[in-house]
Amino acid sequence: MRNLLCVLLAIWTFGVNANQRHDYLVTAAADLATLTVLACPRDSTKGLVATTDLAARFLRRAVALPSGRSIRPGTRRLDLSQGERCIEYVVDLAGASKANQRYQRLHRSNRAVAIPHWLWLPDPPGAIPIEVFFELLEEQKVSVPWTELPAQEDGRPHYRIPNSPRSDDGVSVFGRFENCRLRIAGANLRVAAVRGTVAGHPQELFNWVANAAANVATSYGRFPNELAQIILIPSARNAGDREEPVPFGKVIRDGGEAVVFFINQQRRQANFVADWTATHEFAHLLIPYINNDENWISEGLASYYQNVLMARGGTYSAAKAWRKIVQGFKRGEKSVPHLSLQNAMPIGSWDGIMKTYWGGAAIFMMADVELREHSDGADSLDQVLEKLQACCLPSSRSWNGRRFFRKLDQLSTTPVFEQLYERYRDAPGFPDYEAYLRRLGVRLTSRNVKFDRAAPSAAVATAIMAGPHRARVNEPAVCVAPDDQNLATRNAVRAASAALQ
Ligand SMILES: [Zn+2]
Repeated sequence: MRNLLCVLLAIWTFGVNANQRHDYLVTAAADLATLTVLACPRDSTKGLVATTDLAARFLRRAVALPSGRSIRPGTRRLDLSQGERCIEYVVDLAGASKANQRYQRLHRSNRAVAIPHWLWLPDPPGAIPIEVFFELLEEQKVSVPWTELPAQEDGRPHYRIPNSPRSDDGVSVFGRFENCRLRIAGANLRVAAVRGTVAGHPQELFNWVANAAANVATSYGRFPNELAQIILIPSARNAGDREEPVPFGKVIRDGGEAVVFFINQQRRQANFVADWTATHEFAHLLIPYINNDENWISEGLASYYQNVLMARGGTYSAAKAWRKIVQGFKRGEKSVPHLSLQNAMPIGSWDGIMKTYWGGAAIFMMADVELREHSDGADSLDQVLEKLQACCLPSSRSWNGRRFFRKLDQLSTTPVFEQLYERYRDAPGFPDYEAYLRRLGVRLTSRNVKFDRAAPSAAVATAIMAGPHRARVNEPAVCVAPDDQNLATRNAVRAASAALQ
């Protein structure tokens, strides 16, 4: 580590770095027991601060440089004194990883860990960027959600931490795992398939991720965040574990956008492709982070669109997608009818969840139908989301619901969103979707849905599931090397043309 310190001090000597950024250099021990971080914040910072109380528990020691003074951490602080420039600290990486129960079935050759457990940030951070270099031992890899910068001449990965809302703790992965840079639908997804104690089938997992990304790209021809970090955490207990393929998935916004899936790596590709979780989670990336107290908006969009996108991708028939949507509405309608969308969420029960997800879904379906009806098919939720991506994504901050719906109206040919928001946000009962289904000619029967082709908006029902783009992934997903830009470009062209025909 000392030689690395010399490198950083040399940078200062030549004045390249002076007061332009906070610099970090991170090294994982060969056995992944510890992580050593050399943090050299800008002159005016008083030290480092942790964003979680747990960080102090995993801190083994800290030394100020160049004085060599040992720092006794406060609960969340590591202070610099006069003349000190850097702090070198060592974190119990194994302990920090095991703090998350879901990371306990990982092979010892790799570790997943919440970033706030090991990253102490400059205090005060100011407006200047934080850049992080990784010194990787042979065969080690790293996955973080941050913005990738060109690697150093010596091959060190180099990142800048972007401004981002914070929905949860960002996740990092260290060690020997399958790291796939997946070029699909105009994106450069950074997919980390973490190794579990039971072996899996990484190529099949990458194929599944590519398939779900292609589903989401049927909305406007490309994936909403071209640099998203995707992490696949294995959860199988033993060979032949029959747990479902994706027991849990979530979007994390913290220093960028990431999607984490906990997967039964014993399952095969067909099981994963049939599962809606990835399409649902990726659909969340179509909109910015909405304040958590209004999460019926984000869950509503994802619940409506997961079915639409699965139909466009060919996994569901149009009838199956409509059936799942209408059955969802019925479940939501029966759940806590005395509460509004806004009040249903905090109760946290299954009923509250059904109301939150499917009440929000009804609002997005109603908006989509109205846009298409008013514009004779020229406008749609797809088009509004495409404009939203162009103006506002990925967003560096969180939005409130009213502002978000107003923005959607600004991007639409007809203002439909804010009036739905105002009408239903605080009203008990359920959004009045029935009249829309009648116009669409979609009727739930005991086992399926029936279409009335003579209904006034029957063409809208067909157009929603057909979509503006069709996804088709015939080729296996191709992982490209990060430094082979020419190959990456060639594969991007191939993958995009294969995915969108
Ligand atoms: Zn969701």
